Amino acid sequence: MIDQSQLLRLLGLPQIAIDRVEITDAAVLEIHVHSTEEGTQCRSCGRRITEPHGLGEERRLRHLSIFEHRTEILIRPKRYRCPDCRDHPTTTQRVDWYDPRSGFTRAFEHSLMRALINSTLEDVAHKEAVTPEHLDGILDRCVPSQIDWTTLTALPVLGLDEIALTKGHGNFVVIVSARVEDTLSILAVLKDRKRATIEAFLRTIPKSLRRTVRVVCTDLYSGFIGAAKAVFGTHVAICADRFHVARLYRDAVETLRKTELRRLKRDLSKTEYGGLKNVQWILRKRESDLSAEERRIRARLFAYSPQLAQAHALSQALTEVYDMPLSKGQAKRKLSGWMRRVKNAEMTCFQSFLKTLRRHWDEITNYFTERHTSGFVEGLNNKIKVLKRRCYGLSNLRRLYQRVYLDLCGYRVFAR
Ligand SMILES: [Zn+2]
Repeated sequence: MIDQSQLLRLLGLPQIAIDRVEITDAAVLEIHVHSTEEGTQCRSCGRRITEPHGLGEERRLRHLSIFEHRTEILIRPKRYRCPDCRDHPTTTQRVDWYDPRSGFTRAFEHSLMRALINSTLEDVAHKEAVTPEHLDGILDRCVPSQIDWTTLTALPVLGLDEIALTKGHGNFVVIVSARVEDTLSILAVLKDRKRATIEAFLRTIPKSLRRTVRVVCTDLYSGFIGAAKAVFGTHVAICADRFHVARLYRDAVETLRKTELRRLKRDLSKTEYGGLKNVQWILRKRESDLSAEERRIRARLFAYSPQLAQAHALSQALTEVYDMPLSKGQAKRKLSGWMRRVKNAEMTCFQSFLKTLRRHWDEITNYFTERHTSGFVEGLNNKIKVLKRRCYGLSNLRRLYQRVYLDLCGYRVFAR
């Protein structure tokens, strides 16, 4: 048998005493308690008051389950009368372990927030037998909806990322993030990617923090680069996210692949063309993930289209450059070599990529000095992609901020 002091320890609620415990027919544990804390703060004058004035209505607060049995704390809050204020108003005692607006203890609320990390409102509501509206309410009470600058001492690495909230064009929001050592933080979700919007936000960073920014990781969108340069000046390195650059040169190969397959569909016999089954997926796979059969299909395609073979090889070569542990200077030489190869091969599919490479030479090669920084942008991107899939229609920016915050910091903030 466990006695009351042991049960008290299991409950983990401070300054209460257990009056009695009941188990209902539905196997719900009802634990009747009272507060052992004395006094409260007068709601009118703010002074500490200790003159008892009866008890309030009984509150029923859902708490952490015990052996998977729904557990409820029943308490009649103490009330106190103010001797100093006119009319002697009474105030209901406030305690730390529950919010008077909530039907849950804070410990239970925090467990719900932990459950919501990387999950969906619907799923958590279903598993924990609460409603999505309950979870909405807790999110608003417990999860910040904007950055509190006082929690940060330095912002060495900033990330600027755009994400499309809906499929198709337009409706972009910008995620501003920061990485301090291994900790990722979300600084803001901005309503659009206009340079003015981004610049206005960056200017809200307190001056003392602004001076600590060393690197801004971004894609090659001029609005981002322009805003960052305007706010942080020239001593900050703008660093083009490698995955964004990779998307550009891979897209170039992809476009060529489409035209070539259209041509081959026209020129080849049905059987010959049939031998290229799923080749579009095969080309996207990593070399090490290919099966022998897939390699044969790819070789067939490359035999029909030497141009595509060459473009594919050049794209792979560029990825290899990115994978090498190069200094910025070495990377510049490697990339120049790659550009020469493209020119010599007369590969027109990379024409617009070459222009980008020249225009953003500095931002792109900065990656090699701060190479560890771009992974965090991509990591965050993936997290947000997953979040969007989980919670489609997450168009409320305040809520989006809270959900990203929860996914990034939830285990730290709502630790047991
Ligand atoms: Zn008072």
